[in-house]
Amino acid sequence: MRYFDIGVNLSSEQFAKDRADVICRAQSAGIENMLLIGSNIDDSRQAIALAHTFNLTASAGIHPHDAKTAQGNYCETIASLASDSAVVAIGECGLDYNRDFSPREKQREVFAAQVALANKLNKPLYMHQRDAHQDFLAIVKEAEVPGVVHCFTDSGQALEAYLELGFYIGITGWLCDERRGDTLRQLLPQIPLDKLLFETDAPYLLPRNIKPKPKSRRCEPMHITHVVAQAAELYGLPVEEVANAAFNNAHKLFALEVSACD
Ligand SMILES: [Zn+2]
Repeated sequence: MRYFDIGVNLSSEQFAKDRADVICRAQSAGIENMLLIGSNIDDSRQAIALAHTFNLTASAGIHPHDAKTAQGNYCETIASLASDSAVVAIGECGLDYNRDFSPREKQREVFAAQVALANKLNKPLYMHQRDAHQDFLAIVKEAEVPGVVHCFTDSGQALEAYLELGFYIGITGWLCDERRGDTLRQLLPQIPLDKLLFETDAPYLLPRNIKPKPKSRRCEPMHITHVVAQAAELYGLPVEEVANAAFNNAHKLFALEVSACD
């Protein structure tokens, strides 16, 4: 069984006291690699530094929540960050009309700029979309590079559109949420195994199917095993097949070599 957690916010304050332990626990649970999400310029710098410390990968970009902080030659800055060997994707970028932490027009501008930058650098896109499918689609149609729509929680129509564009779909512990994960659970088997990726979005989205319930509400990368197990059940496939498919997909998307299993 091989795991690649494609969404970890390791720079979060919530991991300030025990980052090395968190990574160690994840590695003991079989998580061989992780993508550390960069959500603004400073955060991308931190993600890259942590990726080097722990021999992991990172993204560099500006999250829609942080679009309002984008100024000056932010694309040049992202491009220079993206030249670092640890950076395997441009993002997290996209649109979030659910919380509207940045003005929508600014979100669209900063997202479109990052799509154009990914094209120019020939790097995959690491994308976020919440309650903004139509505007998101209009911008992402310009992408000439592969990408992942991370933490997918939208409708079947949105899923179909993203698959048609050849994007990978990132599945989080949302799948394990008996209250709000219903639609996602129904849609999951429509995601072809060769487009599936798993992520914890740690420290957020602790899977609700962990038994016994952990004392801490903080999600850690090691918990990805619960998301994958839930997905395998919904596909009606062996866990190993689903885990390994997603593991190989992550390597393909991020242009990484799969190391021999030891
Ligand atoms: Zn996100």
